[in-house]
Amino acid sequence: MRRLFIACALPPSVVAEFARAFAVTYAGDGPPLSADDIVAGAAGHDALVVTAPTRVDRALIGRLPASLQALATYSVGHDHLDLTAAAEKGLAVFSTPDVLTDACAEAALLLMLGAARRATEAIALLRERRWTGWTPTQLNGWDITGKRLGIVGMGRLGRAIADRARAFRMPIHYHNRSRLPADLEGGATYHPSLDALLAAAQVLVLACPGGEATRGLLNRERIARLPPGAIVVNIGRGSVVVDADLADALDSGHVAAAGLDVFDGEPALYPRYYTLPTLFMLPHIGSATLETRNAMGRLLAEGLEAFWSGGAPVNRLV
Ligand code: NAP
Repeated sequence: MRRLFIACALPPSVVAEFARAFAVTYAGDGPPLSADDIVAGAAGHDALVVTAPTRVDRALIGRLPASLQALATYSVGHDHLDLTAAAEKGLAVFSTPDVLTDACAEAALLLMLGAARRATEAIALLRERRWTGWTPTQLNGWDITGKRLGIVGMGRLGRAIADRARAFRMPIHYHNRSRLPADLEGGATYHPSLDALLAAAQVLVLACPGGEATRGLLNRERIARLPPGAIVVNIGRGSVVVDADLADALDSGHVAAAGLDVFDGEPALYPRYYTLPTLFMLPHIGSATLETRNAMGRLLAEGLEAFWSGGAPVNRLV
């Protein structure tokens, strides 16, 4: 039986899924392991399972035991992995595409609606027992119905968000580095330039990967290109947003409201975020549904089994 070292917390059903096919060493559901703990724990194993907060960089990959043949991340994002270094070491790398797309798209809609309907202030009003009754002046937010939606990163997740936004009669605009074929575009308007997309986006959704290519993509200059009163949502990666610039735009009202699921340097948040009333925040729960968690585990287990039986796993990155 192949030996798996699971270096991150996973739901018990997912650990059981792995244990059906592999001899599993589970590090437990404590805080993320240090690089030293990962190196020590992976000794004598065939595969290492990690997830998004754990950086597996060139230095760590260089120290991993020679027994290791595969690296599996329990996430679709892989900006925390050095794929080049992994390939050079001869590691096959696996992730969890597709199975979390619907859950994340639902979370993106939650962020759009939570921001537009001022959910942070509304929940505080109730929980702090300050609500004195309905009035027409209370907590008026903004419709998203019919607003132009600008999506940065029209991949699996961006397209699933677009599918749902069409039910709100939102015209869809998007920016990718490359244009999609017409069947995937689904009538959406492609903007080869990010600046042109920003000028159109009454609601902006960031659904692109993290990493150096997108670091600080939404900065002061780019925020200024949004229409006044735009709503900003980030379901991709925290590093895509310059926190101080978004906070300034929320303070000035140029960005009317924002919804964030991901944060640069999470779980430590940019301190001003805690105090902004028009900011609706979730603690990186985009894919956090029981169905999705189980499906992610199944996909990784099936990918590893296919790899060792000589197949071509659909979720292999390198
Ligand atoms: P995907 O199918 O690979 O789509 C990524 C899209 O981003 C592609 O359309 C790509 O198009 C575009 N893109 C990449 N680099 C870009 C750049 N520099 N500028 C503009 N567009 C760029 O991935 P996915 O499954 O949709 O997931 C997208 C990201 O969402 C993941 O990488 C992950 O970081 C994040 N995510 C977050 C959560 C959460 O819990 N909040 C859950 C799942 C995923 P081009 O290559 O043509 O540019």
